[in-house]
Amino acid sequence: MNKTLGIYIHIPFCASKCGYCDFYSLAGCDKLMPKYHNALLQHIRESAPQLREYYTDSVYFGGGTPSYYGARRICDIFNTLKRSGLIYKSAEVTMEANPDSIRYHDLVTLRDEGVNRISIGAQCANDDLLKLIGRRHNWQQVKKAVKNARDAGFTNISIDLIYGLPSQSREDWADTLGRALELQPEHLSCYGLKLEEGTPMFFYRDSEILPDDDAQADMYLYTCETLDRYGYRQYEISNFAKPGKASRHNLKYWLLRDYMGFGPGAASSVNGIRYSYIKDLKAYISGIQTGGTVVDEYEKIGELDRAAEYLMLGMRTVHGISPTEYHNIYRSDFTPLAELLEEFKRKGWAVNENGRWHFTPSGFLLSNLLIRLMLDKQGEYKLSGNPWVDSMDMFLEQTELPAGDEVFYH
Ligand code: SF4
Repeated sequence: MNKTLGIYIHIPFCASKCGYCDFYSLAGCDKLMPKYHNALLQHIRESAPQLREYYTDSVYFGGGTPSYYGARRICDIFNTLKRSGLIYKSAEVTMEANPDSIRYHDLVTLRDEGVNRISIGAQCANDDLLKLIGRRHNWQQVKKAVKNARDAGFTNISIDLIYGLPSQSREDWADTLGRALELQPEHLSCYGLKLEEGTPMFFYRDSEILPDDDAQADMYLYTCETLDRYGYRQYEISNFAKPGKASRHNLKYWLLRDYMGFGPGAASSVNGIRYSYIKDLKAYISGIQTGGTVVDEYEKIGELDRAAEYLMLGMRTVHGISPTEYHNIYRSDFTPLAELLEEFKRKGWAVNENGRWHFTPSGFLLSNLLIRLMLDKQGEYKLSGNPWVDSMDMFLEQTELPAGDEVFYH
């Protein structure tokens, strides 16, 4: 039987750049959309032989701002994928949307074509703060977007929020979280603000109005407790979902499953090979048009790197890691790690449940440090750039397709 695959489509266009944004996305380049569209469709069609080696059970349109790119174009891409690959009709198909660029009739169009999950970039319920960080919407528009998505038939809605914003108090954050809960999304992603060099908001790094590490930690623990009370299961450091609503696509990154990306900057990991495309829109378009190279980084992942990634990615989730799995897959001795994890357990940072180790919320807070200690112990801290390790999120239960559910688009 073919292996399963997740497909990621990168849409590198935004209406404007947010002050904290470090993603590869461009504002003011809309006139390149038609050329990009043609190049992307060509790339997908040319990749049909590789795509057909897999059964695709998740598709993710991320960015950038896919909703700004337009529902028609997204459907066009999805239809090209349906013709080029073997996509389950039951696949999880997600599109990221910003509240200011998603309308009811777009959502109906997307739903009709098979998009079944919407991830809305809400970030915060305080309109002044939204303005400060360069967002184009207000909270009223978030409410409207969620209502429109429900009315259009979406039963799987995720909301993205950010805590630790300049001048944000714990009360402000509690208010944002409360207002997000009123919208009853199936999934919530709550990220602590990270100020990256080169972004417009980087200068806040030394500012007194930026919540310090303790304040951020406090907001984080508050988030974990509150969402737990409301029935959201934390399945990764920053991700919380109602039962059965963990993102199937995002799970793939953490379960070290195969995924294929398209578009500038998009990363892929298939058959033990990892590669990514150049973060340069024009070069990507001309590379596809002329048959030139668009690959930026390419590497074969060795078994030891894979074992290190198993620790790093697994410990970001509450699925955690299993000594038996580790030994069986990587033929490595788990004993030194077990001793360290016992120490973490004594400090209240980790637990062992049903034979698997995972962090507690206080352990997640320290996860960068604790994972580094584990890697040192493993003697394999030479991780060659998995793009998800620092920035991505997600997972929990393996969401295999139900038996017999093998109906494809064609
Ligand atoms: S909308 Fe998203 S991708 Fe675009 S600039 Fe803002 S944060 Fe970045």
